[in-house]
Amino acid sequence: MEDVYGELKQIINGDVALDEETLKAYSSDASLFRVMPKAVVFPKDVDDIKALVRFVADKKSANPELSLTVRSGGSDMSGGPLNDSIIVDVNKYINHFKEVVHDKRFSDGGGYATAQPGMFYRDFEKKTLAEHLLMPSYPASREISTIGGMVANNAGGEKTLKYGKTEDYVLQLKMVLRDGNEYVFRSLNKSELDAKMKLKTVEGEIYSELYKLISENNAILKKAKPKVSKNSAGYYLWNVWNGDKQIFDIPKLIVGSQGTFGIITEITFRLIKPKEHSTLLVILLKDLDKLADVVLRVLEYKPESFESYDDHTLRVALKFLPDMIKLLGAKNLISLGLQFLPEFWMVITGGVPKLFLEAEFTGDSESEIYEKARAAQSGLKEFGVKTRIAKSDKEEQKYWTVRRESFNLLRHHVKGKQTAPFIDDIIVRPEKLPEFLPKLTDIMNNYDLIYTIAGHIGYGNLHIIPLMDI
Ligand SMILES: Cc1cc2nc3c(=O)[nH]c(=O)nc-3n(C[C@H](O)[C@H](O)[C@H](O)COP(=O)(O)OP(=O)(O)OC[C@H]3O[C@@H](n4cnc5c(N)ncnc54)[C@H](O)[C@@H]3O)c2cc1C
Repeated sequence: MEDVYGELKQIINGDVALDEETLKAYSSDASLFRVMPKAVVFPKDVDDIKALVRFVADKKSANPELSLTVRSGGSDMSGGPLNDSIIVDVNKYINHFKEVVHDKRFSDGGGYATAQPGMFYRDFEKKTLAEHLLMPSYPASREISTIGGMVANNAGGEKTLKYGKTEDYVLQLKMVLRDGNEYVFRSLNKSELDAKMKLKTVEGEIYSELYKLISENNAILKKAKPKVSKNSAGYYLWNVWNGDKQIFDIPKLIVGSQGTFGIITEITFRLIKPKEHSTLLVILLKDLDKLADVVLRVLEYKPESFESYDDHTLRVALKFLPDMIKLLGAKNLISLGLQFLPEFWMVITGGVPKLFLEAEFTGDSESEIYEKARAAQSGLKEFGVKTRIAKSDKEEQKYWTVRRESFNLLRHHVKGKQTAPFIDDIIVRPEKLPEFLPKLTDIMNNYDLIYTIAGHIGYGNLHIIPLMDI
């Protein structure tokens, strides 16, 4: 077997690593799992990816354990980029930006952008924001994940409440399939679909079989579609064929399939024109009794995002405050540190709320956003909960940083223990949370664990992260 992996160096121009240190580094992601690969390859370009796929296809019958798994940012929390054979790192070289374009087709003033999958979202966003455009489904891991991983995982995040998930923004994908060729996937009308189905190639076979599968089982698929406020489990067969509009949209199936259909080599995202102004209404809950009422009431005011974190998350953030501030750039060090004084005071006086909720209101002017935030604040009066409207960008940034970065900091600061997201990324409808959360924390507290609970409260999507000695 070693010889097979040794041969990789002859078939690609990029790098091949077989050393223990690299293999170990690629044996984990942000999940619980550890799987040791035999080789890690860094393709230089799409031709290298094609060569890799052909190599594995040729050698597979003599070496059945050979397989390819793509890794990009490696921030997956489910073991998706792990494999005991060959890991294909697209982050190192397949990370170029192609173009960002304003497009009059989109009535909201949006556009589109095309880039390679290994590009970090944070770099991609810089390019789109320079044109006042945004891909809004970025995850909380926006600083460490790439656009390829976002497509493969159907990432969603703080703006999903208003704008939806990555599946709503993929206009076109290029992907290398099992025959080692690169194909373009976009939505097709019925005559384009008919033409594809006539092809005597792997592509033709895929379109024919998929169309048959979906059209023959339409009723079963519709019935099987989960009735949840968010689903990122992948293989959304029910979203591919729109019989009314006669549109066949294969990217809807590829998004969320965690790289199991092929290797994505280029992505074109639809972009929105983001609102210029934003503020946060922060709600501090000392217990969970009124959680459902509060969440449902705030949703009536249509926030652009509605996020939450618990008292444990805040304590982690304060414990590792210097690192957290460093993440935001050294120039913010003192002024941002000072922003946290009220939170330190809460800890000292024993007044830390059980849950922090942050509802973001956006608009075209300062007056519009404060009007919206104040209306929501008044709407909460009858519940007698403590609220606060962020008065400056710095204050807003503070709340966002705790929400986005605390789990990541926890991951990097544990000695002998690891973050164990084994009940992570669950969906519980907001109205059920007051029943669910106390039961959950009762269990966690039985085990003397450090843990954080944070998430997208607006649609009941929570990350529950205990720190454990596995
Ligand atoms: C602190 C933290 C917070 C997070 N918050 C969120 C959140 O709010 N929302 C959310 O959705 N997720 C979240 N995640 C999970 C994860 O970060 C995202 O899903 C992210 O989009 C994954 O991107 P990545 O580049 O790290 O992908 P990787 O981890 O490298 O890969 C993810 C999957 O995509 C596949 N893949 C990657 N590139 C390709 C390609 N070119 N072709 C085919 N398949 C490919 C991999 O094989 C793997 O199955 C979070 C993770 C962490 C650690």
